[in-house]
Amino acid sequence: MAGTISIYDLIIVGHGVAGLAAIVSAAELAPAAQIAVLERAPKDASGGNTRYSPANMRMRSVNKISPGFMDNIITISGVDGDRAYFEKLADQTPQAVQWLERQGVQFHAIDYFLKSWPNRIQPVSKGTTIIKALQRSARVKGIQLVYECRAKQLHLGKEETTIKAADGRRFITKSVILASNRF
Ligand SMILES: Cc1cc2nc3c(=O)[nH]c(=O)nc-3n(C[C@H](O)[C@H](O)[C@H](O)COP(=O)(O)OP(=O)(O)OC[C@H]3O[C@@H](n4cnc5c(N)ncnc54)[C@H](O)[C@@H]3O)c2cc1C
Repeated sequence: MAGTISIYDLIIVGHGVAGLAAIVSAAELAPAAQIAVLERAPKDASGGNTRYSPANMRMRSVNKISPGFMDNIITISGVDGDRAYFEKLADQTPQAVQWLERQGVQFHAIDYFLKSWPNRIQPVSKGTTIIKALQRSARVKGIQLVYECRAKQLHLGKEETTIKAADGRRFITKSVILASNRF
């Protein structure tokens, strides 16, 4: 295993919602591309924070964000948020959630006891559903899911990037996306 070299068009590091959504979207845009995701956890424990998250989303339905969505996010983030960024987020969130639905994630509305709370929707069976649905889509699209592979070093060359894993495997790729959260 140590020293093995694999070559790809695109590698994504991290198998949470960000990484899996990125690879599945990339495969939709470029079906012939050789794509892989490197995940440090074993398959059964993979999914990062996403797997343990209730994945509540401030939306009335999959088509509509909750009233006050943007101001709420800016207040909660507690920093001088970039309003243009949050406007784009608010604008594109329904599209992103509908895309998740097309991958097989079902959503339901949460009925809060405190009616003053913002409306939220949630995937049935929470964050783990997102991971399972995107994993399935990735497999159908022929994406290679490499588990127990901790990316340790990244060398950005002019034409290609080399990723060295903790166990010595090497991956050469034209493009790389890091979706490993804050690790
Ligand atoms: C308890 C909890 C409750 C939450 N509730 C909500 C909520 O209700 N609504 C909401 O919107 N958000 C919620 N969040 C936040 C949300 O879960 C995260 O923002 C989201 O899951 C981040 O996704 P991600 O793909 O960026 O990271 P992650 O899901 O953490 O995925 C990162 C992946 O990268 C892998 N990785 C890390 N380093 C390496 C490496 N060197 N090599 C290979 N792989 C690596 C990790 O193993 C992991 O699988 C919650 C989070 C937690 C923990």
